[in-house]
Amino acid sequence: MKIGFIGLGNMGAPMAANLVRAGHEVVGFDPAAPMPDGVSPAPDAAAVAAGAEVVITMLPNGQILRSVAAEIIPAMNAGAVLCDCSTVDVESAVAVARQAQDRGLGALDAPVSGGIGGAAAGTLTFMVGGSDSAFATVGPLFEIMGQKAVHCGDAGAGQAAKICNNMILGATMIATCEAFALADKLGLDRQKMFDVVSTSSGYSWSMNAYCPAPGVGPTSPADNGYKPGFAAELMLKDLRLSQQAAEGVDAATPMGELATRLYAEFVEDGDGRGRDFSAMLPRLAGQGRS
Ligand code: NAD
Repeated sequence: MKIGFIGLGNMGAPMAANLVRAGHEVVGFDPAAPMPDGVSPAPDAAAVAAGAEVVITMLPNGQILRSVAAEIIPAMNAGAVLCDCSTVDVESAVAVARQAQDRGLGALDAPVSGGIGGAAAGTLTFMVGGSDSAFATVGPLFEIMGQKAVHCGDAGAGQAAKICNNMILGATMIATCEAFALADKLGLDRQKMFDVVSTSSGYSWSMNAYCPAPGVGPTSPADNGYKPGFAAELMLKDLRLSQQAAEGVDAATPMGELATRLYAEFVEDGDGRGRDFSAMLPRLAGQGRS
């Protein structure tokens, strides 16, 4: 298949590399990142779109997605599919899908879970919104880049699933970190704490797969000085998207609201900037109740 790939950063580069390894012809554009081996560089985003059967975007946010979409949609072949894998607001996802459909193109919002490790290993989970026919076209590519693709519904449904998932992630990471901080002060060994919780009813992905305590559980950013991984800024971005969506539909999300506030304080007072989102543990461990 002829594939265009726009946005070859931490996630996009390994995803594109997996498509090349599977034998696809990939043309890429990114104004800042180097092209992965085997991806042919294009001079701009429109040049990527021309001739591609599927164009994948992996960009920082909805504003950038909208500006890139305005460039590429007019350049895409009729019948081609625009598949956005970035995490963006539901409104941007729906607006871009509508513009693509108005020009006779297929469109999917297909954000991912699994992080840079999952992108490199080809084990991402894709949560997808859009038509059955567009999902069928891109399905074989999801199989190369990921282990699972769930077709969640119409345009925007993939982003809705993503922000709900990441709202849970933000809240469970904070809960896991504060439990470790409490355990420390109660004199409980962190390894014992992990051994109990990871096999008890307090278990979660944050504890079992991404343990925020260094030297405990599987290797995680905590073992690498809290270098991201998944940056605290990106967690905050996703939590804010969840709260923006919740306001739009009048949904009660008190835990999501509190998690958003705690990550905003963490990032904005400088403690969390540039660090993994699990660095909430040393922050809470260093604080008292007031
Ligand atoms: P990143 O910053 O490493 O990569 C984004 C890339 O987009 C950069 O290389 C940048 O140069 C490029 N870009 C910016 N403007 C562009 C434009 N106009 N045209 C073409 N390219 C442009 O970010 P990332 O970690 O790869 O994340 C990408 C998306 O995936 C984000 O929406 C993020 O929320 C989401 N995501 C990230 C992770 C993770 O663990 N890093 C996990 C799941 C989802």
